[in-house]
Amino acid sequence: MMWRYYEPVELYFGKDALLENGKLIKNLGRRCIVTTGKSSQKNGSLEDLEKVLKQLGIEYEIYDEVKENPSFDMLRNALSRYKDEKVDFIVGLGGGSPIDFAKALSVLLANPELKVPEIFDTEKYSKMLPVVAIPTTSGTGSEVTQYSVITDDNGNKGGFGTPFTFPTLSFADPKYTLTMSEYLTMSTGIDALSHVVEGYVSKRSNPFIRLLAKEAISLIKDYLPKAMENPDNYEYREKMMYASTLAGIVIAQAGTTVNHAFGYPVTTFKGVKHGQATGMFLVETLKVMSKEAKEKVKEAVEVFEGLEGLESFLKEVGVYKANIEVSEEEIKTWAERTSKAKHLGVTHGNFDLDKVEKIYKEVLIKKLEK
Ligand code: ZN
Repeated sequence: MMWRYYEPVELYFGKDALLENGKLIKNLGRRCIVTTGKSSQKNGSLEDLEKVLKQLGIEYEIYDEVKENPSFDMLRNALSRYKDEKVDFIVGLGGGSPIDFAKALSVLLANPELKVPEIFDTEKYSKMLPVVAIPTTSGTGSEVTQYSVITDDNGNKGGFGTPFTFPTLSFADPKYTLTMSEYLTMSTGIDALSHVVEGYVSKRSNPFIRLLAKEAISLIKDYLPKAMENPDNYEYREKMMYASTLAGIVIAQAGTTVNHAFGYPVTTFKGVKHGQATGMFLVETLKVMSKEAKEKVKEAVEVFEGLEGLESFLKEVGVYKANIEVSEEEIKTWAERTSKAKHLGVTHGNFDLDKVEKIYKEVLIKKLEK
């Protein structure tokens, strides 16, 4: 069996990772943009970053208008502000959204001829500005992946990821996650769980990342409920951030499966957070995958003692609690899109239109606790 491993991110992990190693940022230039949301002011991460940048004498501008599920319009807005300025690199600070946004903005600033929707067409460019990633949630793993997920002008999620769109430097300090709410802890933790389970069963998975995935799955099973119950416990937060970093390394190699595509419309059209929206389909999509990849699915959910155990775990942490109304019409439209998702290229099992529609109904109409 032939496989490849590529992970070009210089990552520092642990308490004060940024404060102690931030001096490396000076190699990236004199002037940067910090893309972030509002929560970085509350969790201490922005304070740490400003301290480091000031010490290094790096000029910076804070763009704190990044919202969840960043869109083409948000990119256009940032671009109009910065396109004529000298920018050496970008710092993405926050959850997955500000880091994904940093990658997209970096591509656009490095390729001024590119139109915003063309960021999905990675044949059209071959460079980006260096990106520094500082995660403040434990879920997306964006600090160690090449991926950026952006919502297009029609409200649909798309993305890009190539060997040159990884961050250059990442600083993962679990202390920034101590202020996450119970719900955010759950949703981001379940995102990480989906990443490792999907990465494990992906057609592109390999023995090395399955090793990492197994470790992460066990950690999430043990520590997600603990972190939700004891939000101030640093050790639990550290375990979750470690698991989410492993999960990011896994999907950087294996990609995510169609399970992720199932969740996208539930997030963009119904406002359910990404991790929860992804986790709610996991059991049903794994059932279909196991028809073609029985052993892999069995191994992936071994610590839960099977799919039923996984389902109980998801139920206990609250993944199925979502009070949303979905019409038949919506399900039809979503199913059409999901049954053509590019994730199918790495997904085992038959996900034709009929099957996809059935899964949407099974989860959104029957399974959710309203
Ligand atoms: Zn995800």
